[in-house]
Amino acid sequence: GDFDQKISNNGDDELAELITAFNQMTEKLVKLEKIRKESASDLAHELRTPITTIKGYIEAFEDGKISLNQENLDELKEEIARMVSLIEKLKEFAEAQNKIFNLQKEQIEINKLIKNVSKKKLKQIESKNIKLNLELEKELIIEADKDSLIQILNNLIENAVKYNRDNGKITIKSCQRDNNIIIQISDTGYGISREDLPYIFERFYRADKSRSSENGGTGIGLAVTKELIEAHGAKIEVDSNNNGSIFKIIFPV
Ligand code: ADP
Repeated sequence: GDFDQKISNNGDDELAELITAFNQMTEKLVKLEKIRKESASDLAHELRTPITTIKGYIEAFEDGKISLNQENLDELKEEIARMVSLIEKLKEFAEAQNKIFNLQKEQIEINKLIKNVSKKKLKQIESKNIKLNLELEKELIIEADKDSLIQILNNLIENAVKYNRDNGKITIKSCQRDNNIIIQISDTGYGISREDLPYIFERFYRADKSRSSENGGTGIGLAVTKELIEAHGAKIEVDSNNNGSIFKIIFPV
């Protein structure tokens, strides 16, 4: 009677928990598998362009249609560099996927991390004569995986440099609003058009192709950034006009 009832209730609760955990895990694995398959197919697609260009050059050399001058060689080297950077970025993407399953969360004082990461970027920042502005509210602790946070900050700061104007400005702000810690990275670049904005977090998507490829972009950085942020239960928002862009990370505390 009562005894059986209790056991089966407990059993039900535990079973329900197990089923939920199992379902969540399956869902994650299915998603990961889907991402893996898509990545392979996207990479194949992305690699086709430089390979076709290189093949075209080689055939033209063979047919004697073009000569082996420095300009042509530089063109070839650029395509090869693009392939190398694609492969490196894809490695970064695969690593981030694995990271998501194995977040090593710890208490992190976010302002200290922001200062450390931006210090490492100073050379890059100064090479474009960009001014870095830090507006950090003191002592903001979040529970997060440090490597992920470093990668997130690295990617956003790198973009804020790459897509900025010479002599521009980068502002990094941090603050706590109610139950959220907010990190905001803004630049004074040319911004992202309204048409491109919904897609910039997609793999291999590059807004304004000419300017992005000039910058050696691969369109993987923001996809990785978003995945890592969402794995922390946080979210990323972007706002942009032709005077610059603002990326906002919102961490629930
Ligand atoms: P990548 O920079 O390697 O091309 P990302 O995934 O980091 O790839 O960014 C995707 C695209 O979003 C970029 O190609 C660029 O067009 C646009 N973008 C990202 N960050 C900025 C920014 N701060 N300002 C303007 N455009 C940006």
